[in-house]
Amino acid sequence: MPETTFQAYQATAPKRPAELVTLARDDLGEGDLLVRVTHSSLNYKDGLALLGKPGVVRSFPLTCGIDLAGEVVEAGGGFAEGEQVVLTGAELSETKPGGYSQYQRIAAESVVAAPERLGTWGAMAVGTGGLTAMLCVLRLEAAGVTPDDGPVLVTGATGGVGSFAVSILSRLGYEVHASTGSESEHAYLTGLGASEIIARDELSGDPRPLAKERWAAAVDSVGSTTLANVLSQIRYGGAVAACGLAGGHDLPATVMPFILRNVALLGVDSVHAAPDVRATAWSRLDELFSESDLRSMTVDASFGDLPELAAQILDGAIRGRVVIDVAGG
Ligand code: NDP
Repeated sequence: MPETTFQAYQATAPKRPAELVTLARDDLGEGDLLVRVTHSSLNYKDGLALLGKPGVVRSFPLTCGIDLAGEVVEAGGGFAEGEQVVLTGAELSETKPGGYSQYQRIAAESVVAAPERLGTWGAMAVGTGGLTAMLCVLRLEAAGVTPDDGPVLVTGATGGVGSFAVSILSRLGYEVHASTGSESEHAYLTGLGASEIIARDELSGDPRPLAKERWAAAVDSVGSTTLANVLSQIRYGGAVAACGLAGGHDLPATVMPFILRNVALLGVDSVHAAPDVRATAWSRLDELFSESDLRSMTVDASFGDLPELAAQILDGAIRGRVVIDVAGG
């Protein structure tokens, strides 16, 4: 590790925005391997943590950033020096120091080798958002959903999870309907493979217990009234993978879709995803996307842009995914 000091964004106390601090190697925690972080990403949870909002960081001080990718500089846990690795979730920025640091010491358990085609930049273009979308699709597949069953709805479609869900499902041959509140982004969503755009308002009224059957399945990153409206419109025997709460954490629904239409509600958590599930999801993502495929869904940003980007993602003003150049400082 040549540099004696390096930069990191740290949450220093509850309810206070994270600060750019200078750290030394001795400030890093425990872990199996030491990584020179080259890239990280921006997720909704990163926005909350960076701006000192409750619900993410659970011990202070703590380095923010729920995702990281980089090069191993001290081998450990089965990973060799020089190897490119990726870690997402796994309580980074919650209880463990995260990816907004030019070096980080990490536990090997949830680390994966950087996917071959995607590399470290591509892995962070995917990041927690894209991995979660893939986990949702894996759950739908395991529930027996196939492209022949009918259209699949994605809510919060221009977000990080939503953009990936639209693109993954389209690449797998599904007819994808994308629900969005962003009227200016219809062309973006059709470019990702959506064949129909559903206005967010259509899913935000008072939910009925059951409504006309429309979709074979759905990936929902919004929750609340939106999820309740989606459930009421899933076809008999269909399934919904629910992963987010961009519209609220409540669920004002009835049991009617479950007991009268055999609908399944499948929860998806990416933070504690098991190593074998992560490996499957990354391998599927690596098959589906090359680095260049990801450019239309991704913007590049520098480390110093993080405070401004945090405010933007909480305002719903970020389209797709953001890759953070951590090495560049
Ligand atoms: P983004 O902010 O990138 O996307 C969220 C999208 O939801 C927005 O782009 C917008 O899309 C839509 N949206 C925002 N506010 C509202 C609202 N009030 N009502 C309805 N729709 C809204 O976030 P991410 O994609 O990174 O994350 C999405 C959700 O998933 C978050 O709640 C996040 O915490 C959760 N998540 C959960 C994970 C897990 O492991 N379970 C992992 C990753 C994320 P549009 O303008 O197109 O409507």
